[in-house]
Amino acid sequence: MNKALRQAIIAGNWKMNKTRPEAKALIEALVPYAEKASCGVVICVPYTNLETAIALTQGTNIKVGAENCHFEKSGAFTGEISADMLTEMGVEYVIIGHSERRQYFGETDITVNKRTKAALEAGLKVILCVGEMLEEREQGITEEIVALQTKIALMGLTKEQIANVVIAYEPVWAIGTGKTATSAQANEVCAFIRQTVAKLYDQATADAMTIQYGGSMNENNAAELLAQPDVDGGLIGGASLVAEKFAVLLEEASK
Ligand code: PEP
Repeated sequence: MNKALRQAIIAGNWKMNKTRPEAKALIEALVPYAEKASCGVVICVPYTNLETAIALTQGTNIKVGAENCHFEKSGAFTGEISADMLTEMGVEYVIIGHSERRQYFGETDITVNKRTKAALEAGLKVILCVGEMLEEREQGITEEIVALQTKIALMGLTKEQIANVVIAYEPVWAIGTGKTATSAQANEVCAFIRQTVAKLYDQATADAMTIQYGGSMNENNAAELLAQPDVDGGLIGGASLVAEKFAVLLEEASK
């Protein structure tokens, strides 16, 4: 299927960065750049910035996302935020299964599946992260790892539900390290994820799915990565924190 028929989405993942005044300044700087973009534009911000981001993006083409959510609806889960709490605020997207959640906060494929289900049931769109670690790539098991993560994350989800899932292929060794997958490596794994989705559902569902690359994508390497036939935009950490850098990615994804 022609890549132009899928929506390329550039999503920023601010991680644990930006106080409210800093967030306000960044969003105000981003709005004019986003207005010129024809790709999807999402900013996933810390919980403390959600209200600011929603208010400042009203009437613009920037969608707001959270960086995680819990799988239960409510209850004794100190420090957690439910999917319903996010939708009630007007949040549209949520990142699930980011490798930093998996590495530092004990996230597993099973909890990723539970969080994905809860988010979709609450009406959120999910940016689901999958990706191999360096040792796994070196061992030649990238496809096995990525297939397993994808299959478990999507377990029990209908075709209709996964129309609201974007998958971000994020090789762990490329996140925040300055090491980027080559455009060929990024495309190869994004295409493999698409095949995996086609086997689980059908080709049309897989062809319609936005599959992003993430891992040190920046204003210098974005053009080549985003031109790949199976790369439909990016999940961007570091370069999403500087409006002028993020703007270059929006421009490239809009071509
Ligand atoms: C990320 O956090 O998802 C990410 C890709 O980070 P960076 O762009 O900084 O590598």
